[in-house]
Amino acid sequence: MLDVAKIRADFPILTVESYPDVPLVFLDSAASSQKPTAVLEAMDTYLRTYNANVHRGIYRLSEDATNAYEAARAKVARFINAQDAAEVIFVRNATEGFNLVAYSWGEANISAGDEILLTEMEHHANIVPWQLLAQRKGAVVRYVPFDENGVLDLSNLAELLTERTKIFSFTAVSNVFGTINPVKQLIAAAKAVGAMTMIDAAQAVPHMPIDVQDFDCDFLAFSGHKMCGPTGIGVLYGKRELLEAMPPFMGGGDMIRRVTLEKSTWNDLPWKFEAGTPSIAEGIGLGATVDYLTHVGMAEIHAYEQYLTHYALEALSEVPGLKVWGPPASQKAGVAAFTLEKLHPHDIAELLDKDGIAVRAGHHCAMPLHKKLGLAATTRASFYLYTTPAEIDRLVEGLHRVRQIFRL
Ligand code: PLP
Repeated sequence: MLDVAKIRADFPILTVESYPDVPLVFLDSAASSQKPTAVLEAMDTYLRTYNANVHRGIYRLSEDATNAYEAARAKVARFINAQDAAEVIFVRNATEGFNLVAYSWGEANISAGDEILLTEMEHHANIVPWQLLAQRKGAVVRYVPFDENGVLDLSNLAELLTERTKIFSFTAVSNVFGTINPVKQLIAAAKAVGAMTMIDAAQAVPHMPIDVQDFDCDFLAFSGHKMCGPTGIGVLYGKRELLEAMPPFMGGGDMIRRVTLEKSTWNDLPWKFEAGTPSIAEGIGLGATVDYLTHVGMAEIHAYEQYLTHYALEALSEVPGLKVWGPPASQKAGVAAFTLEKLHPHDIAELLDKDGIAVRAGHHCAMPLHKKLGLAATTRASFYLYTTPAEIDRLVEGLHRVRQIFRL
């Protein structure tokens, strides 16, 4: 079991001194996680002591910056077990990863009548870029439904996933239900009909060991800020031969080999997809993040979050009128989206905030999912390696107070 007290000491924002009046109970890591000192220091050291642009200067500062930035890429590649660091494209966030593939791969490979398969539990980041592509090309977007437990209903998969399907893009972990999807099974089904696969790992990479070679996915995207890293940096993983064949997404500096007034040729991978000055401090910060998570151990983090999820679902079940949406704890990552009778989730979140408890209320960028449930919004508590059972107890106490205030 993780030494959570020791881990919490790594996160300055979680110390009592940060929030002396009502100690912070941060239960919104699925939106964005907190950052450990090691990550803050890596970024600070770069900015204070070797700040310079990368891939350009023939002077030491710039070489140091380039080395640290590229070392971060190599660390990320090892972290997700990519074959080659060139398969790791630094983007701003997971959203940009989807847009890159939907645009670059999609423009070249999708035609009128082709089908793009998603699921009904996707985040908007894995819906809207495909809808835009489908509109441009006259393609069709289809969706694998979920059942009343928030689990994908695969009974009609053979009708949805056919030789017309050019790509199947789905989330490894739902950001609302917490459902852990059977990624390898779905990839195997896609391969059987010759479809490409893209995995939304925004809620997976931060919480469990992920091995892209074991998945054998074609593309996979995630964000730094949900895994204890900085905002402004994310990762698109793609198989080398696919990335080689794809045209650039954006044009500008760094992504070219040669430019004339008539035409341009492209840089090697991964830089072909990284136009302009990248997020250097953030990239270096992501390298430190990977070091941090590796040191703690991804399997240990996953096991601890499983324990927390069981604990939370049990504790929340004692609040009368509260319903947690999604599957039982055994099939779920550390996310509990709930409703409390007919109370508006924003009211719940506001009252909890008065007790120092930070939860998210809204549709969590999953409007189709909520529409299917007949809800406009849910309140979501999400857990990470620094969350304690005592914090979940405070959430439950807070919810009892909410009930009293509304005289339920
Ligand atoms: N996919 C899932 C499942 C998410 O939860 C999120 C963020 O909430 C995203 C994609 C998009 O992440 P970002 O906003 O960092 O691009």
